[in-house]
Amino acid sequence: MSRPVPNPGILDIAPYTPGKSPVPEAGRKMFKLSANETPFGPSPKAIEVYKQAAAHLEDYPEGTSRVLREAIGRAFGLDPDRIICGAGSDEILNLLAHTYLGRGDEAISTKHAFLVYPIATKANGAISVVAPETNFTADVDAILRLVSARTKLVWLANPNNPTGTYLPFDEVKRLRAGLPPNVLLVLDAAYSDYVSRNDYELGIELVATSDNTVMTHTFSKIHGLAALRVGWMFGPASIVDAVNRIRGPFNVSTPAMLAAVAAIEDTAHQQMSKIHTDKWRSWLTEEVTKLGLTVTPSVANFILIHFPLEKGKTSADADAFLTKRGLVLRALNNYGLPHALRMTIGTEEANRLVLEGLREFMARK
Ligand SMILES: *Cc1c(COP(=O)(O)O)cnc(C)c1O
Repeated sequence: MSRPVPNPGILDIAPYTPGKSPVPEAGRKMFKLSANETPFGPSPKAIEVYKQAAAHLEDYPEGTSRVLREAIGRAFGLDPDRIICGAGSDEILNLLAHTYLGRGDEAISTKHAFLVYPIATKANGAISVVAPETNFTADVDAILRLVSARTKLVWLANPNNPTGTYLPFDEVKRLRAGLPPNVLLVLDAAYSDYVSRNDYELGIELVATSDNTVMTHTFSKIHGLAALRVGWMFGPASIVDAVNRIRGPFNVSTPAMLAAVAAIEDTAHQQMSKIHTDKWRSWLTEEVTKLGLTVTPSVANFILIHFPLEKGKTSADADAFLTKRGLVLRALNNYGLPHALRMTIGTEEANRLVLEGLREFMARK
């Protein structure tokens, strides 16, 4: 060996390609609708608390994120001892993989699932097994068919990114019931705050009634704190205990922790954002469909728009056309969706500009 060799699985991970930062035509404002960030920013109270925290940057954070776990506990009616906070849910997902996956193990996710799942799986030497979807939606039977003696974990974003689809609670329960008890089910509820369906449950009930299911959540979406990196999980005591043993002792910074507390307590800010998202998601879905494009019905803060394959009308053409106008959507080639673009619901101005842009795009010869 003439040089260090990465662990098995590491080089099977496709290098991450970050979203582009394009330059629009002169005189156009840029709207970034490519990363599912809120157009409203965080609660002003969170910003205020964050600024105040600057006075004490010399001190290490409280290592268990106690004040944040308590605030989350109050907001969701959960026992703070069963919560772990992390540097984004990314860290939590990686900690779970590191705790439960090893060489030769298998972890299942679905065809168009969040890319962090296969990365966290392979980073631990495990094999990423991909279940087909039905109508861009996780298919419980397809997942269950892939379970083998090596299966250790199932990843399920509900709702899923980048498709925006969800599984009703009955289906999630059916999935859990069909999995062997030693298989960890990870329910990623990053977008749960945007869902208004009475057959949806974000995972709390299942976690509370089983000892092999965890639910992860984030402050990056409706709370608008993506830059600060705060996520959390709710899990059974045994899983919380195991994950805490490998968690870095100061993994959430004090400014991030305190801002997250202020954010979760500002329910009016969340409500405003949810109402806006509901309204414009319906409007965009309807109007974009009228242009002759297909939109996958979404319950999250983004929509998936499918484009024709004919030259001049493809998703790549649309992406280039919109980008020139400062409207940045997300191409999804690395998600196995080369003919679709994902659009985050933006401000009214941004949403109307995208519709206008798509109308001209579809009408041009
Ligand atoms: C955005 C997103 C997250 C949040 O990740 P953070 O690391 O908390 O910012 C988690 N899961 C899915 C499916 C997402 O789209």
